[in-house]
Amino acid sequence: MPRHIVCLTFDFDTQSGFIARGMTTPTLLSRGEFGLIGAQRILALLKARGLHATWFIPGFTIESHPAACAAVVEEGHEVAHHSWAHVPPAHQSRAEEEADLVRANEANAKLTGRNARGYRSPSWDLSQSTIDLLLAHGFRYDSSLMGADYWPYRARRGDIAELGKPFRFGEQTALIEMPISWSLDDYPHFEFVRTAAAILPGLQSARTVMESWLDEFRYMQQTVEWGVLTYTVHPYVIGRGYRMLALEGLIENLQDAGAVFMTMEEAAAEAQARMF
Ligand SMILES: [Zn+2]
Repeated sequence: MPRHIVCLTFDFDTQSGFIARGMTTPTLLSRGEFGLIGAQRILALLKARGLHATWFIPGFTIESHPAACAAVVEEGHEVAHHSWAHVPPAHQSRAEEEADLVRANEANAKLTGRNARGYRSPSWDLSQSTIDLLLAHGFRYDSSLMGADYWPYRARRGDIAELGKPFRFGEQTALIEMPISWSLDDYPHFEFVRTAAAILPGLQSARTVMESWLDEFRYMQQTVEWGVLTYTVHPYVIGRGYRMLALEGLIENLQDAGAVFMTMEEAAAEAQARMF
């Protein structure tokens, strides 16, 4: 029997990503604050559709906005690890990365009563140490790599990439990779960001983006018997009215097309049982 799984994932960053980039003027911070309104809208939509999703929540958001995070838990969604301070691991020393990982683990455990099973790195940029640290701290899955689209795979450590030499694969580990893509992330499609160095134009038609996202599901259905497709959205980005309508339309179309919705922890467990 064909089985096509969809993981809806919500990165509940609020102000953390702005602070991590030194963008701390009132208007910039208020963009992240809007995520509190967006999260309420998303929770209502998921409840109306009878869906459970995965929320990657930085420790910063857990400790700054406890009621908003408690609401996520009360609705039965999975809470997964998204660092404490939203600094990409690629920018940290191993000691800094591990300290942040542990601090966020403590915040997660306080919120949900257990350690998170899954991890997603801020801004999707792992360090050479990340896979090692995730294994050492008992994680089951990561969702930060782009080496596949419709099937989970084993995360590797020790890949060697040197200029002028052939690529060498490292060893496969027990950690399950739940792959992602910027093309299936709301941020680059919608956010208008202007800095001294660059302009990210964003502000695309929400319905056009959702049509592409639905095509990704259709192509998975056409080409594989079993697969997992992951969408990544941010409450402060997708929470705007016209984007919420488009997201609702996408969910409706996916349900009509036979998508099986589950949390990422559930999808990783099914992948473990089926594929490895
Ligand atoms: Zn994030």
